[in-house]
Amino acid sequence: GDLAKVTAGDIDGMSKHFPLCMQNLHRELRKNSHLKHFGRLQYTLFLKGIGLSLQECQIFWRKAFKLIADDKFNSEYLYNIRHSYGDVGGDANKRGRGYTPFSCQKLLTEALPGPGQSHGCPYRSYTPDNLMTLLQAVGVNDREVLRGVKEDVGRQRYHIACNRVFEAAHKVELKKAKDESLLPSSNFDTILHPNEYFKRSFVLRN
Ligand code: SF4
Repeated sequence: GDLAKVTAGDIDGMSKHFPLCMQNLHRELRKNSHLKHFGRLQYTLFLKGIGLSLQECQIFWRKAFKLIADDKFNSEYLYNIRHSYGDVGGDANKRGRGYTPFSCQKLLTEALPGPGQSHGCPYRSYTPDNLMTLLQAVGVNDREVLRGVKEDVGRQRYHIACNRVFEAAHKVELKKAKDESLLPSSNFDTILHPNEYFKRSFVLRN
């Protein structure tokens, strides 16, 4: 669809274009109908970055937290969503704009998620075995790619692993785009931001 009109109902379908960090949060959210604070924050800002309005974002979380009653949702979760969008909060600077979606650099350097938490970058926070399982669950099955990822993460080159997966998933389209100069050359630089990953994947539509 049209990125200017992303709705809460579009997120499931669009999630195949998300990088692993956000696909992981989406899967955990659907599995548990809940995400802890930092996961919510990371995912809310990402969704904001892909064009989800505050109103649609509220609808998205209200529906996703389906086991939680309205009054609890409104008192415990709604404020933080609105805060991310700059709709409420004390910091006048952020009013109306809110916060910027987190970069890979931030996600790769913050404290590792604890038990029950799913935020951060799975290339860094998951054990190699769990990472392989997660990648296969989201459709990355090519043995050579998986082997490459294992090597990358063994050398702590997490974003290289992520770029490897992106390139493998879009191999044909990327080659065509390059050969026919369909995209600006910056589109072939290393991805350093989850929202950039999404944007490029969405443009290539595969
Ligand atoms: Fe997300 Fe960046 Fe990690 Fe990729 S490298 S999974 S975009 S944090």
